[in-house]
Amino acid sequence: MRSPVPRFRDVERQAGGQHPAQCLPPFHERQNNMWFIRDACGIVCAIITWFLVFFAEFVVLFLMLIPSNNLTYSLVNGTLFNSLAFLALASHFRAMCTDPGAVPKGNATKEYIESLQLKPGQVVYKCPKCSSIKPDRAHHCSVCKRCVRKMDHHCPWVNNCVGENNQKYFVLFTMYICLISLHTLVMVVFHFLYCFEDDWTKCSSFSPPATVILLILLCFEALLFLIFTSVMFGTQIHSICTDETGIEQLKKEERRWAKKTKWMNMKAVFGHPFSIAWFSPFSTPEHGKADPYQYVV
Ligand SMILES: [Zn+2]
Ligand SMILES: [Zn+2]
Repeated sequence: MRSPVPRFRDVERQAGGQHPAQCLPPFHERQNNMWFIRDACGIVCAIITWFLVFFAEFVVLFLMLIPSNNLTYSLVNGTLFNSLAFLALASHFRAMCTDPGAVPKGNATKEYIESLQLKPGQVVYKCPKCSSIKPDRAHHCSVCKRCVRKMDHHCPWVNNCVGENNQKYFVLFTMYICLISLHTLVMVVFHFLYCFEDDWTKCSSFSPPATVILLILLCFEALLFLIFTSVMFGTQIHSICTDETGIEQLKKEERRWAKKTKWMNMKAVFGHPFSIAWFSPFSTPEHGKADPYQYVV
C-alpha cells in the first residue's frame, strides 16, 4: 500500500551532497559480512547474558546433576538443559551478529536517485542523520547510527537492533531462555525436596551454606529471566502476527502496508513453509531477498 500523505518528520526532500564513492554496495551484496555494533553498554549487556547462562550451567551441572544418584535423571535433564543452553546462545549470537536490515549509509546521492528512475510525483525520503534513502517502515537507530528496515527496537541484551532480518533469532533467543528458565526452576524444586529429605552434606559436593546460596541465586535468576523473556516472547509474537513493529505501535503509525493473515506474517519472519527450521537459529529464513527499497509515494 502506498500512502498519498508524505511524512515530513526526520525527512528531507532534497537529496544530494554525497559523493558516489561514499555509497556502500546494495544490501543483498553485503549480507555475508560480519555485523557487530561497537556499543560499550550493549557489549557489557551481551557479556552479562552469556555469563548468566554459564553460571546457570555451572550450578545445574555441579550442584544438581553430577552429585545426583539417579543416572537417568541426570542424563535426561543434562541433555535437555545443555541443548536449550546451546540453542539459546546460538540464537543470541545470530541475533547479535546478523545485519538487522540496515539501509546502505549515505546512498542518497543525486546520481543514485536518478538511477532509480522514479515516476513523476514519487517522493523519496532521506534520513538526515545517516544520509540514506529511507525505505518504507524503516527507522533510524541512534545506537547503530543506521536506518533499519522494520526496526522493532534496539535491544542492548543482544547488542543489536531487532529488525526485519534478525527478528527470528531474537524470538528464538527469548523462547529458549524462557524454556531453560522453566526447566531450571523445576529442577531446583526437585533438588530442594531431595535435599530436605536427605542429609544436606550428601546432596551436593559443596558445603550446605554455599549450596543454598547458589541455589537461591539460580532460582532468582531463573524466575527473573522467565518473567522477562516470556513477556518479550509474547510481545514479539503479537507484533509479528499483527505485522506491526514495536515502534509503529508506539508511534501509532497509520497502516500503509497490506494486511495479511497471522500465519502469513509468521511465515514471513520464520520462513516458508512451516518446518523444524523455524526453531533452528542456524537456518536463515528466505525474507530479506526481496527489493528492500519500497518507496512511499
Ligand atoms: Zn538514518
Ligand atoms: Zn540499533
